[in-house]
Amino acid sequence: MSPADHLTPSQRAAVECIDGPLLVLAGPGSGKTRVVTHRIAHLVEQGVPPHQILAITFTNKAAGEMADRVGRLLPGARVQVSTFHRFCARLLRRYASVVGLQPNYTILDAADQKQVLRRVINELDLDTVHYSPEKVGYRISTAKNDLRTSEDVQRQYEESIADHWQAVIARVYPAYQRWLLESNSVDFDDLLLHVAMMLVENPELRQELDSRFRYILVDEYQDTNAAQYQIIAALSQEYPNLCVTGDPDQSIYGWRGARIENILRFEREYPDAQVVRLEQNFRSTQAILRSADRLIGHNTQRKAKRLLTDNEEGDAVELLEFTDAHDEADGLARRIRELVESGGATYGDVAVFYRVNALSRQLELALLRHRVPFQVAAGVAFYDRAEIKDALSYLRLIYNPNDRSAFLRVVNTPLRGLGETSQRRLVAWAADNGVNFLEAAARAKEIPRLTKRAIAGFERFARLMGEFSLADAGSVEKLLLTVLDRTGFTRPWEGSLNEQDQQRLANVQELVTAARQFDAVRGDEPDLEAFLEQTSLVNETDSLDPAAGQVTLMTLHAAKGLEFPHVYILGVEEGLLPHERAVRDAGKRELEEERRLLFVGMTRAERRLWLTQTVTREFRGRTLHTIPSTFLAELEYNRVDASAGGDLFPEWQAVPQPAEKKKSLPRNAEGKLDFGGAGKITTAANLLNGSSEAVELPRGFAMGMRVRHPRYGVGTVTEVGGFGARRTVTVRFAEADRVEKFVAAKAPLQPL
Ligand code: ATP
Ligand code: MG
Repeated sequence: MSPADHLTPSQRAAVECIDGPLLVLAGPGSGKTRVVTHRIAHLVEQGVPPHQILAITFTNKAAGEMADRVGRLLPGARVQVSTFHRFCARLLRRYASVVGLQPNYTILDAADQKQVLRRVINELDLDTVHYSPEKVGYRISTAKNDLRTSEDVQRQYEESIADHWQAVIARVYPAYQRWLLESNSVDFDDLLLHVAMMLVENPELRQELDSRFRYILVDEYQDTNAAQYQIIAALSQEYPNLCVTGDPDQSIYGWRGARIENILRFEREYPDAQVVRLEQNFRSTQAILRSADRLIGHNTQRKAKRLLTDNEEGDAVELLEFTDAHDEADGLARRIRELVESGGATYGDVAVFYRVNALSRQLELALLRHRVPFQVAAGVAFYDRAEIKDALSYLRLIYNPNDRSAFLRVVNTPLRGLGETSQRRLVAWAADNGVNFLEAAARAKEIPRLTKRAIAGFERFARLMGEFSLADAGSVEKLLLTVLDRTGFTRPWEGSLNEQDQQRLANVQELVTAARQFDAVRGDEPDLEAFLEQTSLVNETDSLDPAAGQVTLMTLHAAKGLEFPHVYILGVEEGLLPHERAVRDAGKRELEEERRLLFVGMTRAERRLWLTQTVTREFRGRTLHTIPSTFLAELEYNRVDASAGGDLFPEWQAVPQPAEKKKSLPRNAEGKLDFGGAGKITTAANLLNGSSEAVELPRGFAMGMRVRHPRYGVGTVTEVGGFGARRTVTVRFAEADRVEKFVAAKAPLQPL
C-alpha cells in the first residue's frame, strides 16, 4: 500500500461504516477529507452503484480534486462530486417547472443582483442611499439562507410589530423575486432555497431523490447554512446513509449564514449515528499545532478536542515585525526568494494568507520586483470584468430570451443609441403587455413615445439576436465568435494604443479560449447551459494550479481545507485580524469566528508558520499606528525584528523629512521596533469613532528617480511639489510618452 492510501484504525472505521448516519468530528489535518475520498471508493468497491453516491465539497477545486482521487483509487468510477450550488443548479435544471421556472433559467451574479435591486428599490420609491442595494441584498440573502421565502417575510411583517428595515424588506424582497421569476433567472441563494423548498413541498419528489442519492457525503459540514442543512436532511430520510465530516473550530462562514449548530446537533437529529473522532494530525509540526491549539482554547463556545501529532517538534512559529506595509511586502518577497534559493523550499510550497484582499496589492508588487513567481486566488475577478460580463450576457440572452439583466446589459453595448429613457419606455411597455424585453424590442414600433432612431435600434438588436443559434454555430466557441463579430463587440478597442483597451481585447480573447477548452471537453455536443453554469458558479480558488511552482496568495477564508509546507499570515493586527467589525461586536460571537479564522489559517501550515505585523499601516488613505492583535497574547511564538534595518525607507532619503515626523518613527530606546508603546495610537476602530490622532507618514520621491506604476509601467519622476499629505509627484512614463501627476502619499509608484 502506498503512503497515499494509508489509513489509521479510526479512519478505517469511518471509511468502512457503510450504512446509517456517520459523523466524523475531528480537528484540522486529521484526515477527514481523506476519509471522504476513501469512503467513496470503498462504497463502490462494496457494490454501491456510483450514481447512488453524492459527495458535496465546499469549493469546485476540492470537488475536482476529490473526483480525481476517487478516479485514481478506482479507475472508471464516475461519482457525482460537487459543491452545493452546482448540485442544486443541476437538480433545478431538471425540476425547474416545479418551482415555476423554465429549464433554461439563468443565474444572476452579484453585480446583476445589485442592478436589479437598485431598480426595484427605485420603483418602490424608496431611498437607494439609505436602503442601498448592498444592504438590502444582504438582508434578502440572509433570509434566503435561513429558508425564509418572500411570502414568509411578508407574512411575518404583517403579523408582528416591525422596524423600518423589516418594512422595507417586506416590500423589496417580493418585488425582487417577481422580477427574477419573470426573467426566468435565479440568484445564488435561490439555487439552494428553490431546491430546499421543492423538497419540502413535494413529498413524492423528495422520496424519489432520497432513493436516488442513497449515499451522501458532506465535507466541511460545520459551514452549512439552514438551506443546505434542509436539503441534506430531506435526502436522508428513508436512506439515512449520510456521512458528514467537519470541525466546529473551523466554522468561518457565519457571516454568510452558516450555522455551527448543524454539526453540533447531528447526534441529536440522528440518535443512531456513529461518531468517529480522529485525534492524530498528519499535517503540521508540534510547534505549529501547539500554538494553534492554545489560540483556539480561548474560544468559550466550543468543546475541546484532542489533537496530537507524531510529527517532529519543528521550528517555533515566528512573528515577523516590520515598519510598514511596504517594508513587510519587500521583506516577505526577499525572505521567500532566499528560502527557495537556499534550497529550503520551492515556490509552490509557499502560501501567503490575508484577512482582506486589499492587503495583497503591495505584496504583489514586491513579488514582481523580486521576480518571485506567484498566483492569486481571485478566480472571480476575471468574470467580474465588464467586457467579460457583456460578452457572457449575449450568450445568456441567447440561451434564455427572458433574461432581463442580460438584455439590459447588452442592448446598448456596443453603443446603439438606446439610452436610459428609451430603455425605460421599453421596460414599462413590456411589463404592461406581458412580453419579454426581446419581444418588446422586436415590436418597438408599438411602444409609445420612442424616437425613430430608438425604434430602429431596438428592431435591429432584436433581429440580430434572432440570428444567433447554438445549433447553427456548432460549438460554444463558434457561437461566441459569431456574436463578437456580428455585434462589432471589440471594434471600439481594436487598433487602440490605450492600455485598458488592449487589456479588454486580451480578456475577450481569453474568454474565447475558455469556450474552446470547454468545447473540447464536451466533444460533439455543445453545451451552452453548462458553459454558462461554469462561468457563473466560480470560486476564488478555481484558477489555482498547485503544479505551477508559484507562491500562492489568498484570503484566509479561501484557504480552508488546503495545506502548504510554508505559510505566512499577513497583518495579525487589531482591526484587521480580528476584523474591526468583530472588535466592535459586544456579543463576542464575531470575535470567536475571527479566532477560528486565524486558527484555520495557522493549521494550513505543515513545516513553518510566520505571522506578520507592522508598526504603521495605511488605512483608508491614512497612515496609522497599529495595535497588536488580541490573538497574539493567546499564541506561542518568537518575535523577530524583520524590518529592513536602521535604513528604514531608503528611497525616501533623497527628500529631507520634517523633523517631528521622523521622531514618530516607531523604534524604542533600544532601537527595537516599538509596538503600541507610542503615546499617540490611532487604530482603525477609533478612527471610525471619530478620533483621529493619526500619524501621517510622508512618502518621498526625488527628481530623476525611476519608478514603476502597476498599469503604466516604468517612468521617471520629472517634478515634485506640495508638502506633507499634499505632496505631488509627476512622472513621465516610457510607454506612449504618458505624463501623470499623483498625490505622493497615495501613488501606487514603486521606486526601482
Ligand atoms: P482540514 O480540517 O484542514 O480540512 P482534514 O482533516 O480534512 O483537514 P486531510 O486534508 O484529509 O485532513 O489530511 C491532512 C493531511 O494528512 C493530508 O496531507 C493527508 O494526505 C494526510 N493524511 C491523512 N491521513 C493520513 C494517514 N493515515 N497517513 C498519512 N497521511 C495522512
Ligand atoms: Mg479537509
